[in-house]
Amino acid sequence: MTIEQKIQELREELRQHNHNYYVLDNATISDYEFDMKLKELEKLEEENPQFFDANSPTQRVGGDITKNFETIVHKNRMYSLDNSYSKEDLLDWEKRIQKILGTTDIEYTCELKYDGASINLTYENGAFLRAVTRGDGFQGDEVTTNIRTIKSIPLVPNGDFVSDFEMRGEIILPIEGFNKMNEERVANGEEPYRNPRNTASGSLKLQDSGEVAKRPLDCLLYQVVTNERKYASHYESLEAARSVGFKVPKTIELKKSIEEVLAFVNEWDEKRHDLPYETDGVVIKVNSFQQQDELGYTSKAPRWAIAYKFKAEQVSTVLNEITYQVGRTGAITPVANLEPVHLAGTVVKRASLHNADQIEKLDIRLGDTVFVEKGGEIIPKIIKVDLTKRSNDSQPTVYATDCPECDTELIRTEGDAKHYCPNEFGCAPQITGRIQHFISRKAMDIDGLGGETVDLLRKEGLIQNYADLYELKVDQVIPLERMAEKSAQNMINGIEKSKEIPFEKVLYALGIRFVGETVAKKLAKHFKSIDNLMAADFETLVAVDEIGDRIAQSIIDFSNDLGNIQLVDRLKSYGVQLEISAESLEGQTDKLAGKVFVVSGVFHQMSRNELKKAIEDNGGKVSSSISKKTGYVVAGDNMGPSKLEKAQNLEIPIISEQDFIDMIN
Ligand code: AMP
Ligand code: ZN
Repeated sequence: MTIEQKIQELREELRQHNHNYYVLDNATISDYEFDMKLKELEKLEEENPQFFDANSPTQRVGGDITKNFETIVHKNRMYSLDNSYSKEDLLDWEKRIQKILGTTDIEYTCELKYDGASINLTYENGAFLRAVTRGDGFQGDEVTTNIRTIKSIPLVPNGDFVSDFEMRGEIILPIEGFNKMNEERVANGEEPYRNPRNTASGSLKLQDSGEVAKRPLDCLLYQVVTNERKYASHYESLEAARSVGFKVPKTIELKKSIEEVLAFVNEWDEKRHDLPYETDGVVIKVNSFQQQDELGYTSKAPRWAIAYKFKAEQVSTVLNEITYQVGRTGAITPVANLEPVHLAGTVVKRASLHNADQIEKLDIRLGDTVFVEKGGEIIPKIIKVDLTKRSNDSQPTVYATDCPECDTELIRTEGDAKHYCPNEFGCAPQITGRIQHFISRKAMDIDGLGGETVDLLRKEGLIQNYADLYELKVDQVIPLERMAEKSAQNMINGIEKSKEIPFEKVLYALGIRFVGETVAKKLAKHFKSIDNLMAADFETLVAVDEIGDRIAQSIIDFSNDLGNIQLVDRLKSYGVQLEISAESLEGQTDKLAGKVFVVSGVFHQMSRNELKKAIEDNGGKVSSSISKKTGYVVAGDNMGPSKLEKAQNLEIPIISEQDFIDMIN
């Protein structure tokens, strides 16, 4: 057997095991054996880079970083779905489509509506090419690297199927995995995630695919889109997709009438609580592709499909008290404290009231009996007051005027949804919150220091702001509750080590309003130091690519604040990185400024990601689809045929890996 054959054989075998484990839930070898085989493959691939394949099972562990998610225009628009809530709605829909089709002979499929984030997976020549989020339906973000880590998604479908197609599905986080993630977060002193759906969709946009690989994400598929006319119906195409490895839930059923559809809805309204993932309804589709084509689309949704939303569960209970929470930015959130009540499998004691308008709109008063509902959210909502149970002497709720934490008078600026406590530097949760943000993983990433300890340090009067961290001494920390000498030393070491964190992360850590990770990177690259940034005026700031008025104003406000100026000066004096290091500037040129590149195929001297990075480091832009704006296509081996054709049609220069390397050297 040649090395290449051996590599192919191992890949095939590992693919099969992935399928058994992640799709069929029926492993046939131990984790250990699997790891051994994977290691063997890794070794062979490393020794023989000419056989690299982005779709090899070794490429699923993650680790590649995506800096900016590329916007991709969907080849076929991703529509939303019309909703229905009653039998009448469904019968109306049936009447409409019967009229258009001129027949009552219509077959339906019923599927559950999986509650996660939609994804579009493109396959070319029978292999996975890219994954794009739904975005606004016309275009979304390319999240290929992250999606590749979800092992239930076959990278190379196995068996008889179409070869160029899109699979549409929902990225979900099963409830058990979600709970486990939250347990870990709470143990680390971090805020728990709110619900599986938002966590799944947030996961897609993580920059570190290694992080994504650790999350127990899954992908349930519900539609095959292809020009190849191989299947006559939706049901048939999904069955075929399942047979070649896609995770198509077996809950899909064929129905002959709306009566039958309703029976399915009622059955699953109960049974869905036993599923390992969340669902929020049933999707009903016309089964025949020919009928689907005849029905077509409205401006928003297919006429051939409709969602039936399950009713959220409701109970009534008594409102005992309204308390107010203060967030890191000073935003105030009112919270309803309820008489504990059972709802959808959990005991509910609190409900979010969002803001003052919400309380006013619902006219919620102390002592009221209220209806509480749990939809997709883990934290339930109050829907309305049961006025029949209101006592005669009840008084309208007067919204808090002062901060519950520091007694400062609250403000509400026009256009803001919430009240704010303006006492930025003297309000405990804001102080703690800002420091917690500063030390967090994407910011200063301080090892040995968690959110709870920050709170404790502040309560003990040891820190008032993030600069104070750098003056902490081991002896001061040891006496703290649950602190041993070793952990105290670890913490101080962690703080010391954070002085090496690069400027862009420090800038993010400062917690300037509206300056998130991506903006911080942009600003760091452009201004190169905190001094330059803080000296910039409004015009200079908004002239920077992607910096708008709101961000610019927030930076100006930050820079004009004496407290902030002092904090930044102190950080500088401790040796925190407040300018771009020579190292990160190294290799950065403007050689490719203004040029847009598309990279396609397999490369030998550098990986595809290294190539993309080299383009960006030299001032160029990477795009994943070819258009008139494309300057060059860098072509490796096995460049996609559709890309090649498009590039040739538009007469875009196609260059080799070596040509590119010559260009930047
Ligand atoms: P909406 O977001 O309410 O417009 O509903 C449309 C979304 O429902 C689609 O974008 C899908 O992500 C999602 N969805 C979940 N399950 C299904 C399913 N079985 N068939 C079609 N769409 C589904
Ligand atoms: Zn306050």
